Amino acid sequence: MRAVQISEHGGPDVLVPVEVDIPSPGPGEVLVRTTAIGVNYIDTYLREGTYPSDLPFIPGSEGAGVIESVGEGTPDLVAGDRVAWCQTPGSYAQYVAAPAESLVAVPDGLSDEVAASMLLQGLTAHYLITDTHRASGGDTVLITAGAGGVGQLLIQMAVARGYRVVTTTSTESKAQRCRDLGAHHVLLYPEATPERVRELSEGGVTVVFDGVGRDTFDTSLASLCPRGTLVLFGAASGPVPPVDPQRLNAAGSVFLTRPKLADFIATTEEYRERAAEVMEGLVDGSLSLEVGSTFGLSDAAGAHRELQSRRTTGSVILDPSG
Ligand code: NDP
Repeated sequence: MRAVQISEHGGPDVLVPVEVDIPSPGPGEVLVRTTAIGVNYIDTYLREGTYPSDLPFIPGSEGAGVIESVGEGTPDLVAGDRVAWCQTPGSYAQYVAAPAESLVAVPDGLSDEVAASMLLQGLTAHYLITDTHRASGGDTVLITAGAGGVGQLLIQMAVARGYRVVTTTSTESKAQRCRDLGAHHVLLYPEATPERVRELSEGGVTVVFDGVGRDTFDTSLASLCPRGTLVLFGAASGPVPPVDPQRLNAAGSVFLTRPKLADFIATTEEYRERAAEVMEGLVDGSLSLEVGSTFGLSDAAGAHRELQSRRTTGSVILDPSG
């Protein structure tokens, strides 16, 4: 089968297409033929070595596909079922041996592309909105990178909960996408100052969801109202340098949290509950997921280049046949 391998950390060119054996599903695992593969920002951190990993490895952790065969101890799953997964290493490949508990059944009506990118970003937006802060209806929240994969879903979930949404992005076409999703105010970066955010929120936002990191952290902190919460959940522009806790005092007794998805889907039950809510929204149309770009599996390097150059909107997909 074709897969993508990383043998050394570095730029997008270390993503090299290779031919390897199809994996055999062990006990509790299922062999899935991939039909679409999700590309996520965390894949770039692992490629660069910002997050540790043993070399060589097949990157990617998310996708959708059709069950080919099942290992021992997977009673509810049968060949031919359409499934999606996340948090499963080795997903940039035409076949993946996935733990049965990582698989969710894909409802009719969802395309392979949507199924392949709904979990990692959808579950992230879901736990961020439900479990990381204390905002309530009518409060104003700030979301960085609103046109991105997580950002688009977060805007919609925030609007649905009655929050007023201020969001930031880099281009007018991305700004329009954010408005279409219901954002109340969209700020392009030169205009995205704490003063402007405070003006729009009458004294500061209750929560900031910041997935950009280094470039936006200071503005995010200075945009909060007293006792607000800064939810720093990513580092698209680079990691934030160490922070003196005294800055949280000076900003108005604010809270800073740095959550990660794994801790909010720590049990299979929680994973399935969050996945069911995200899929329900996608099926009934209350949530929309834009698959912004598709690359062939052999051009995973191109996908990473595009994602890191801020040229993508919504999710990015690899087509395993390409
Ligand atoms: P996005 O689709 O949001 O892409 C990143 C966006 O960040 C870009 O499109 C760009 O939007 C913005 N950006 C701002 N500054 C930069 C910069 N210097 N370089 C590159 N991009 C920049 O990615 P994802 O939706 O996949 O992920 C968003 C964030 O969420 C990432 O930081 C990721 O690591 C994090 N994440 C965290 C999880 C967690 O549990 N903690 C789980 C999943 C994702 P614009 O052009 O509008 O500025």
